[in-house]
Amino acid sequence: MTRILIAGFQHETNTFGATKASFNEFLEADGWPGLLQGADVITGTQGINLPIAGFVEATRSEPDIELVPVVWASAEPSAHVTDDAFENISTMILDGIKQAGALDAIYLDLHGAMVTESHEDGEGELLSRIRELTGAALPIVVSLDLHANITERMVSHASAFCIFRTYPHIDMAATGARCFPILQRLLSGEILYPAMRQASFLVPLSAQYTGASPCKELYQLLPQDSAAGQAHCDIAMGFPPADIYDAGPAVVAYAASQAEADEHAQRIIEAMETKETAFDSALLSADSAVAKAMSHTGSKPVIIADVQDNPGAGATSDTTGLLKALVDGKATDAVLALLHDPQTVAAAQELGEGGIFDAALGGKSGLPDMGSYQARCRVLALSDGEFAFSGAMYAGATAQIGPTALLEIVDSESSVSVLVGSKRCQCLDRAILTHIGIDPGEKKIVAVKSTVHFRDDFEPIADLILHAQSPGVNYCSLEEVPYQNLRTTVRRGPNRR
Ligand SMILES: [Zn+2]
Repeated sequence: MTRILIAGFQHETNTFGATKASFNEFLEADGWPGLLQGADVITGTQGINLPIAGFVEATRSEPDIELVPVVWASAEPSAHVTDDAFENISTMILDGIKQAGALDAIYLDLHGAMVTESHEDGEGELLSRIRELTGAALPIVVSLDLHANITERMVSHASAFCIFRTYPHIDMAATGARCFPILQRLLSGEILYPAMRQASFLVPLSAQYTGASPCKELYQLLPQDSAAGQAHCDIAMGFPPADIYDAGPAVVAYAASQAEADEHAQRIIEAMETKETAFDSALLSADSAVAKAMSHTGSKPVIIADVQDNPGAGATSDTTGLLKALVDGKATDAVLALLHDPQTVAAAQELGEGGIFDAALGGKSGLPDMGSYQARCRVLALSDGEFAFSGAMYAGATAQIGPTALLEIVDSESSVSVLVGSKRCQCLDRAILTHIGIDPGEKKIVAVKSTVHFRDDFEPIADLILHAQSPGVNYCSLEEVPYQNLRTTVRRGPNRR
């Protein structure tokens, strides 16, 4: 019997965000389940596109595997994880290891871009504490998000990383599954030497789409098969709205000798370096995006991505620059989703459908220059925010995003509605709109607070996709970012030299 302890602790930390991730944020369900412990880790994630679910499924192909599930927890991306949350969840994992008895291996479902109040490298800290308990020999294989900011410390304490290869992350479960054969190789006694190389420039999330050049070609450089004896390599594109020393893209490689691992890591990072100017991070002004969408004559909608106010990258999701541009630009048949504003949702609920009121929409995060938008609104529809997602990325998961309200801006020459929510939730799945009675395929303009993830579910119904520059702390124009801790040698992308 092979005993494998499994656990997950995911947070993507935007150090410029407005609110921190406390323990309570990890307890609550959102797009994904709330904190799970023991056997619930397996039953509560089964069938969901999550790395740990993919890993568990992969182990079912082998007899004589005993999984020891401990804890799985994630919170919506935000500013720092509080020390209290980090210590609580880390302690659950460490106690689980202490109490598990003899173990043959550990699998961890981590993100790779967690920053806590006390630790710039959250995963490095957690992995080093785990290594202190297990010693150096125990195989520890870890799946990471494509947006991981990889550090030397992380690499030194894990046996191997498998990293998502798609953005949108439709391969989360598949990445967890890829960890199992690597773990089996280590269990069979194979030695994998690690190599890591960091890129000398940052890539904003808006330029990290893996469905197009240059990411598409870069990912094709990775060895697809990692059978015994072969090298295993992965790329992390990094998470730039994190003011930490190690922010940015990196390559990891594992091979039978240090020389071979170094050769693979070097080959892939050099290919990335040659692509620096191909990462297109140009954004349209919000006004230009609206004008361009209105003049478009296709039969399908234009999607305007509010790329910098993406809650899935730790932004507040309540900035109103694009909403204002839609109204001022006399946009017709337009909808914007999802504006985070629990107070306005509560006011709409009290009035009921058909009610008309003066709303101060969004802009309540307290961040400078990100104020509310004053508008007279009609309540078109209300929901409890519980529905099944329909797209591939959140496949199998049930949304529990709290009450939402669909509001129409009245007394204006535009025809704009806005979906207001009481939890931050990235608009990456059409069900966010259809569950409240809107068919996005029938609209002229669909504005989404998302950077890239929306593409998987919305691109098939769209004629055109535009990136708008509106306020938000998922900075995509990196020259504006007030970094203090980043390596001084790192460049901030092709358009800013
Ligand atoms: Zn990610």
